[in-house]
Amino acid sequence: MICPACGSSNDRVLDSRASSDGFEIRRRRECGDCNYRFSTIERIEGLVPKVVKKDGVKQEYNETKILNSLMVACSKRPVTKEEMQAIVSNITDRVNNNPKREISSREIGEYIMEQLYKKDKVAYVRFASVYKDFTNPESFAEEVKKIAGNG
Ligand SMILES: [Zn+2]
Repeated sequence: MICPACGSSNDRVLDSRASSDGFEIRRRRECGDCNYRFSTIERIEGLVPKVVKKDGVKQEYNETKILNSLMVACSKRPVTKEEMQAIVSNITDRVNNNPKREISSREIGEYIMEQLYKKDKVAYVRFASVYKDFTNPESFAEEVKKIAGNG
């Protein structure tokens, strides 16, 4: 490793420690020339965040895709882009906090519904109608009735 202070590559490792989930190793290093101390983090390569779909198929996690589905649901509704982005970044945090860096599409969908339900009922119904994939008009009407009942 090149010393960030003096540019020498004459360093030694003082300490290696694995993160609690075991997916990361942090090394404490010291420059042999100027004694500057710094840390490096080693991670498993290719551990790209994944979304696990209902059928078990894994897809790469994609923030843009989630944001787009929110924008469709919130079109012409009083939900700001900042609020939508906040929802997306919360989901991203959940993925990154998972040791395997995975999240189920179900968890994403339910989190979004929970947030939209609080912010805007129309956006919620729009999102739910796509997400829940209502197979008959009765179940959709049932959902709308539930919301109407809760004000
Ligand atoms: Zn140095």
